[in-house]
Amino acid sequence: MAQSFFGGVHPDDKKSATRAKPIETLEAPAEVVIPMSMHIGAPCKPLVAKGDTVQLGQRIGEPGGFVSAPIHASVSGTVKAVEPRPSSMGGKVLSVVIENDFQNTISGEVKPVADPGGMTPEELVEVVRNAGIVGLGGATFPTHVKISSALGKADYVIINAAECEPYITGDHRTMLERPEQVIGGATLLAQCFGVDKVYIGIEANKQDAADVLNREIAKTGAPVAVEVLHTRYPQGAEKQLCQAISGRQIPSGKLPADAGCCIFNVSTACAIYRAVYEGMPIVSKVVTVSGSGVIEPKNLECPIGTPVAKLFDACGGLREDTYKLIMGGPMMGMAQYDTEVPVGKGTGCMLAFAGDEEQYVSDPQCIRCGKCVGACPIRLEPIFMYKYLMKGDRETFEHKLHGMDCIECGACTYICPARLPLTHAFRMGKQQVQADRMAAKARAEAEQKKEA
Ligand code: SF4
Ligand code: SF4
Repeated sequence: MAQSFFGGVHPDDKKSATRAKPIETLEAPAEVVIPMSMHIGAPCKPLVAKGDTVQLGQRIGEPGGFVSAPIHASVSGTVKAVEPRPSSMGGKVLSVVIENDFQNTISGEVKPVADPGGMTPEELVEVVRNAGIVGLGGATFPTHVKISSALGKADYVIINAAECEPYITGDHRTMLERPEQVIGGATLLAQCFGVDKVYIGIEANKQDAADVLNREIAKTGAPVAVEVLHTRYPQGAEKQLCQAISGRQIPSGKLPADAGCCIFNVSTACAIYRAVYEGMPIVSKVVTVSGSGVIEPKNLECPIGTPVAKLFDACGGLREDTYKLIMGGPMMGMAQYDTEVPVGKGTGCMLAFAGDEEQYVSDPQCIRCGKCVGACPIRLEPIFMYKYLMKGDRETFEHKLHGMDCIECGACTYICPARLPLTHAFRMGKQQVQADRMAAKARAEAEQKKEA
């Protein structure tokens, strides 16, 4: 088994509710709401207006810059509106609302690559960019930017199939049901980077998926190796996965490419395969719908822009005593207040919690047990980071305690017996530090202008 990393926790993986459930295709809704920002980077500019007819796979959002990714129609039909709609990130985001005509008319823009084996790295980057592929594990960083910035630097290409967050089983099912896409996508990446092998990192609790992929590798002779990893959260975090597979550590403030590694989520590899061999951009997403509030948990594949309420309906609805909805996993996901928010490119899971699972403590007090320090995979000191943030001392948080290195994995919050909201405080603290930096930059620029 591949080497491991410092810290981490062992939460109950709660995957039993959906791990044996095949991916079901959800019937497309009568209306999809497609946000023009579903990725890290500049939002897209809508290319369509109210009343336009659109086809499945047609580009409807033009990237707003290099770090951006185009957006495509996930159903065929008529544009009903282009207006701000509620977003899973909070607030409203400019969205294209399409009324589904249920014809599934595929756009003429959807064209497979004629000679995949003869593609140059630049050609693959272009295909990936045109298909609107972003990190589908939830990071949503545009994949064409990741590839082009790592070309010539990365000699370790890694597929992240750890799926270490509790509850989520979409990647597990994808590997079991679509191994040709996983291995095909990995092979294209090996060709692109010119490496002898691409490594797929899978946690040991998905040995059946490792076996299926190994059979596919044996059948095709693909330049891919499966590495079975310890089941420990956050095994799927980039720095931890990079260390577990390559033995290389990514320095503070650096990217995997700086350590010669480039990491792609397993669903991203499948999306690359579909873009090349089918010409299909990102128009659908596999979402695990689970948690104690869901009547019948499932893995569902739905068009991008499907309201999450439709996912819950397809799972028999929610229990009456549901008190919390989370988009994403329980460790890093975001609480939601509206079931009308749409599934985006980064949505891999919708959780609903009911009954007596809530463990909120109104005035939590640190008992100085030190467990958070032992759990932090980045070797930070959450106890002190929290203390200084509570005092408003962001200087110490940033410079002495290296708080900006926090990957917001939630391991410290999970292990804390006093139930301090550590990760939440760090997320807020990091945002405030960023705001401080921007304010300082603006002040400096204003000073410079005054002097000039
Ligand atoms: S949330 Fe941050 S501080 Fe807490 S364990 Fe994860 S990386 Fe460490
Ligand atoms: S785990 Fe919680 S109670 Fe223990 S030292 Fe850390 S913050 Fe304090």
